[in-house]
Amino acid sequence: MRQYPVNIVGAGLAGALLALMLARRGIAVTLYERRPDPRCSRAEGGRSINLALAARGISALEHAGVMDKVRPLMIPMRGRMIHDLDHAPALLPYGQREHEVIYSVGRGALNRLLIEEAARHRNVTLRFEQACLTVDPAHDVMRIKDLDSQRVYEARLAPTIATDGAGSAIRTSLASLGLIEEREDRLDHDYKELTIPARDGRWAIEPHALHIWPRGGFMLIALPNTDGSFTATLFLPKGGEHAPADMPSFATLGDTASIQSFFEREFPDALALIPTLIDDFFEHRQGQLGAVQATPWHVDGKVLLLGDAAHAIVPFHGQGMNAAFEDCTVFDGLLTADPDWTQVFAEFETRRRPNTEAIAQMALENYTEMRHRVLDDKFLRQKSMALELERQFPTRFIPRYSMVMFHPEISYAEALRRGGVQQYILDALDETTQSSGNLDVAHARTLIEAQLPSIK
Ligand code: FAD
Repeated sequence: MRQYPVNIVGAGLAGALLALMLARRGIAVTLYERRPDPRCSRAEGGRSINLALAARGISALEHAGVMDKVRPLMIPMRGRMIHDLDHAPALLPYGQREHEVIYSVGRGALNRLLIEEAARHRNVTLRFEQACLTVDPAHDVMRIKDLDSQRVYEARLAPTIATDGAGSAIRTSLASLGLIEEREDRLDHDYKELTIPARDGRWAIEPHALHIWPRGGFMLIALPNTDGSFTATLFLPKGGEHAPADMPSFATLGDTASIQSFFEREFPDALALIPTLIDDFFEHRQGQLGAVQATPWHVDGKVLLLGDAAHAIVPFHGQGMNAAFEDCTVFDGLLTADPDWTQVFAEFETRRRPNTEAIAQMALENYTEMRHRVLDDKFLRQKSMALELERQFPTRFIPRYSMVMFHPEISYAEALRRGGVQQYILDALDETTQSSGNLDVAHARTLIEAQLPSIK
């Protein structure tokens, strides 16, 4: 029987990596992408937008055999450098072992590399400037628009993997046919990217950290780029008629004077680092934030949603790409020489859904932590107590942040579950530590051994 190629729609981070994994198995792949070929154009317009890459993403890139080429794009970040208004910046380490770091990596450079690697395989056909418009599983077709000629044509659908991102046209098309349900939960906060340029060819602030200016209701963050610059991102409420008048918001930052005085008041040290603040503010788009849910993720063996198309999350745990890459590894692991796509798609959803729901929840919780709790004494006390408990009970107590970022062998769902138990233990120990001044290790041992089975 003739084996049809697998269609992948969307050559973003997940689509390009998945194409590479399938190609390495000898599976024929046709990759459709709306944007122009990034190998021929400067897709990001010269700006460097970066992402935090952690262990789950790295383990997927290793699985695809590309880590040696990705490594030069990575800058290690050892912790959060907290810039509060009254003190000198202070580093809050992410972990306590040498390798417990996360990495800043340029989105454009990583995406281009993955496309180049996929393109090396003769069984991969790359089709750029092709926008998928709709899918029709009943007639086994998808409609695609060639953006150069504006011609709309049909292609065979089954099997198609939709990696067309958070605004997935395929997801919306399936929902409009009543084949799946989709839900988008928009956050009341938007974001804006700003540039901290290199100073004399070097980074103007510590490069091996993720910088945060937490201000309670909002925050600024900055991640380093390999060219010595940083990409800073302001996360701020949208505002508008129903927002309290005294709350800073994008709606209140409509002109040069208001932007300038907001930065002078809230981020004076960052202001000195962003000479193009006003231009950046007006030229860069105000991005929206939100989470996407879809049920189910597949229609028979014809089409499957994967990555952000299935489960986009808010970016505050730095895990959207990492989760999408982990999707690719799990999907690849389900393949046999002659895959039954209906079974593979269903099994993929069964394995991944509990985990992507868990990281969606933890990512939302992390927003409060980043913009607010990192300034709170109790939070800082419990953070260092958690690290001490990890030193004493390394196979049982691993801080939740570390489980998510450094332990791909622990699923997101398990990290969420154990994290809840650990928080209960931290609260119990915090009370006694507060009154006696010392961590009660015997009490800690009793609680931990009773509730946290060893994971190694
Ligand atoms: P995308 O990367 O969005 O790729 C989708 C692709 O599909 C694109 O190439 C697009 O052009 C193409 N496409 C779209 N529609 C069509 C169509 N109709 N036809 C054909 N092609 C189409 N994650 C992290 O792990 N760490 C971070 O630090 C991090 N920071 C973030 C910061 C911000 C501000 C945001 C918004 C997100 C962040 N993320 C981060 C999340 C991360 O960007 C996404 O999870 C990741 O890009 C998902 O990959 P994807 O391939 O599923 O989707």
